[in-house]
Amino acid sequence: MAMESYNIIIVGAGMAGLCAAVEATSNNVRVLILEKENEIGGSSLLSGRYMAFADTDIQRQEGIRDSTEILVNDMLSIGEGSNERALVEAYGKHQQETYQWLVQNGVQFHAVQAVSGHSVPRGHQITPKQAIERLFMLAESNSNVTFILNADVKRLRKNKDGKVSEVLYRKDGKEFTAIAEDGVIIASGGFSRSETLLNAFAPQLKGALRIGGNGNLGDGIKLAWEQGAWMRDFPFLKGTYGFHPSADGPRKSQGLVFYKGAIIINEEAKRFVNESISYKSIGTKALEQPNGITYQIWDQAIMNESVHGDALYDFKKLLDLGLIEHANSLNELARKINVPENNLNETIQTYNIDVNKGLDRHFGRSTLTHNFGKLKTISEGPFYGMRTTVAMLATYAGIAVDEHARVLNPYHEPINGLYAAGESVGGFHGAGYMTGSSLGKAAIFGRIAVRTALANIPVTK
Ligand SMILES: Cc1cc2nc3c(=O)[nH]c(=O)nc-3n(C[C@H](O)[C@H](O)[C@H](O)COP(=O)(O)OP(=O)(O)OC[C@H]3O[C@@H](n4cnc5c(N)ncnc54)[C@H](O)[C@@H]3O)c2cc1C
Repeated sequence: MAMESYNIIIVGAGMAGLCAAVEATSNNVRVLILEKENEIGGSSLLSGRYMAFADTDIQRQEGIRDSTEILVNDMLSIGEGSNERALVEAYGKHQQETYQWLVQNGVQFHAVQAVSGHSVPRGHQITPKQAIERLFMLAESNSNVTFILNADVKRLRKNKDGKVSEVLYRKDGKEFTAIAEDGVIIASGGFSRSETLLNAFAPQLKGALRIGGNGNLGDGIKLAWEQGAWMRDFPFLKGTYGFHPSADGPRKSQGLVFYKGAIIINEEAKRFVNESISYKSIGTKALEQPNGITYQIWDQAIMNESVHGDALYDFKKLLDLGLIEHANSLNELARKINVPENNLNETIQTYNIDVNKGLDRHFGRSTLTHNFGKLKTISEGPFYGMRTTVAMLATYAGIAVDEHARVLNPYHEPINGLYAAGESVGGFHGAGYMTGSSLGKAAIFGRIAVRTALANIPVTK
């Protein structure tokens, strides 16, 4: 049977794959997107909806002063210098242009919020379904683009010139091979659903919920590995704190009340962490607590900060869903959530004294989120408590790439014909993660991968 030939073949139809496909449409080239699930969207569709961009019209309307430089510095600081500077700088270089490109292509941005890891409010809110459907529609309506669903990419092969070009996939029980003349782009997401890879690379996350997209089994990492790719950032794998234990079901209930002023306690009603740090780092500490049980605790003034319709801050909705306990006194709340009453009172009292003095003596908390927001006491009932746990929703580790999205071998040389973008990639976040940078990097590097593949930048050996 004759093999179909395309300029570009994209593995996976999430944010990275779809942005790559739409980018390719402006180049009049033939594109094939293979998606293994029976619907597009992957984790991008499930996401909390924040994208990290700086110095945008929405920020300016809100009076928020920001710049690419501050964004890049925040990313390097959260990554503790372990992230690849060239990748972070490429994000900075292309972030404004990609924001505008998304807007021009009909992706709607609604608001901006203060989110983890940013020194200014920079979480630009999309509706994932709207964004994914819009990008899909733009790509699919182009006659040069072919989508095949239920197409599970199994292996890649090099041609006689050593260029990665054959893509072997399985659909409806049959094997197919398609040829990519200019490049294969791995955009198949992370491995948050793969017990095998998580057990191999992050055994410390055994107690975390697994909640990424169903197709996120790390296939892209294995595909690239077989072609000789280097891997990055596995030692930094962390879960995300802030989920209700029921979040491994269909509803991904998440509430980051601690970024609005709540404290976090363990089952002994003791604090154990500076609540303003990255929710990834909080996740590591939370998994170390007795029986892995923790609660967020707050009062009515903080409850009033609930943001209707927000994926992370709609606390009233979580209350309506019955996921939050509440009581008029701290003693009653302690009984409801089964923690020692005396300890809870003492913890809150100590915290309030510290907040009033402006110094958290035990954990050094001085802001609500990373360098942003004034601390609040927890003083006026009703009081609230939400049992909260850690989820493995995204794996920010994987294939090594350069700033052109070319997959690199262990000697830092590009592998001819192979590109990667989105969550399948490692090296970008380093030791820490800031909210919104994963969807952001998926969009930015998905587009870069196409441009590089079509520019045919020579690969030197
Ligand atoms: C609950 C939740 C909340 C989140 N919140 C945020 C947030 O607010 N901001 C943020 O920046 N990030 C967030 N993230 C992370 C972010 O959503 C992902 O990192 C990002 O969407 C990844 O995009 P992607 O295109 O790389 O992968 P995905 O969107 O996962 O797409 C990958 C696609 O590839 C397909 N695929 C996999 N293997 C194969 C194969 N062998 N053959 C063919 N297709 C394959 C998958 O089925 C999937 O459709 C969140 C994630 C979750 C789960």
